[in-house]
Amino acid sequence: MNNNAPRTVLRGQVLSFTDDPFIVDSSTAYHHISDGIVFLQDGLIEAVGNAAELSPQITDADVVHDHADKLIMAGFVDTHVHYSQLGVIGSYGTQLIEWLNTYTFPEEGKFRDMDYARTCAKAYVDQCLINGISTASIYCTVHEQSVDALFEATDAINMRMLAGKVLMDRHAPDFLMDTPDLAYEQSTALIERWHEKGRSLYSITPRFAPTSTEQQLEVVSALMREYPTTWMQTHTSENKAEMAWVTELFPDCPDYIGVYEKYDMLGPKTVLGHAIHLSDREWAVLSESNTALSHCPTSNLFIGSGFFDFTAAQAKTPPVRVGLGTDVGGGSSFSMFHTMKAAYEVAQVHGNNLDAFQAFYMATLGGAKSLGLGDRIGNLKPGLEADLVVIDLQSTPLIRYRMQTVETLHEALFAQMTLADDRAIDATYINGKCYRNAEPVD
Ligand SMILES: [Zn+2]
Repeated sequence: MNNNAPRTVLRGQVLSFTDDPFIVDSSTAYHHISDGIVFLQDGLIEAVGNAAELSPQITDADVVHDHADKLIMAGFVDTHVHYSQLGVIGSYGTQLIEWLNTYTFPEEGKFRDMDYARTCAKAYVDQCLINGISTASIYCTVHEQSVDALFEATDAINMRMLAGKVLMDRHAPDFLMDTPDLAYEQSTALIERWHEKGRSLYSITPRFAPTSTEQQLEVVSALMREYPTTWMQTHTSENKAEMAWVTELFPDCPDYIGVYEKYDMLGPKTVLGHAIHLSDREWAVLSESNTALSHCPTSNLFIGSGFFDFTAAQAKTPPVRVGLGTDVGGGSSFSMFHTMKAAYEVAQVHGNNLDAFQAFYMATLGGAKSLGLGDRIGNLKPGLEADLVVIDLQSTPLIRYRMQTVETLHEALFAQMTLADDRAIDATYINGKCYRNAEPVD
């Protein structure tokens, strides 16, 4: 590290996690500094502490961003999103299978056009910056160039992003299908081109069991063996009709998770979206294989899929790792506040409480850990990558009014996750660089 290079210094309230609030009492799982300082240098967090202690270390060469009483924390991690569905977010009236056929597939077909893909990728990156999302696990489309367009956009500003080409060789329109051979060739080319280039990471991405033949699932398994440093993402047990279909298509498998088990697709670098309707056997397999799940509550409510049970994930030994996903465009918002609020509401349906520390943990460090990236992102700690969000705790008239009666940090955070949206994102830092409303700030 070049200690003479100018540092970026943030001042404001600082929140970091010291433990997992799902394991220990959540009131002991965090560290909050009411007047804190964060030093960033060379894309990393260099120091975090009290302003009284650290401010004497600020030099004339440092660039100071005073965020006053706003809250500085790690950037949000979206563990499941389809950038290519930006154009169908907020589409009316369908559940999963009909939703795919009516809205998703026609829209994804447009990504054969590189210009269309580039325009969407830019709009998507802007939404991430506007909403404080610094890392996401992203589904592109079946088109190889949809991945190039996305990684070009995220690599240009050094975002820590995971993404992959969707694999589908059956039960989809002709214009959206590849073959097992094409899936292998194109995924391999994309892995060689993008995996670990800058901060880009490749995730092998079969859409879900019904749209891949057994031959294609074998290709997925071969790719995972051949490229063990890559990730794998797919969907599971989102909707009852989808599950019945999987039973029909894979009669030799005991259940949905059993399909992915059969093709060796489970493990610590696998992230399964939704996982709403699981049997005890499936929960046990996920726990034993250390497979992670992405909880996508706005999507699960919006397309009527059901209610994920995070307490079932916690009840396993070891617990199943869970992050939050916006799942745009089945999900109805890029806002992690909306996503946390929906996760709280879904927990209420099960008779459980998701407290604010747990929700913010799931949206940051918990999400990072579910992606196996907890040693690189998701918290404010020296040595971690410099991806942060700055939250304005007074962003709307209603929130300002509500905050007058707030007495604890928990109440303040809970009010934010219930009432806030992108207006509360004062700034997003990517690799140490500050953005406001998706525009770089010096
Ligand atoms: Zn999805």
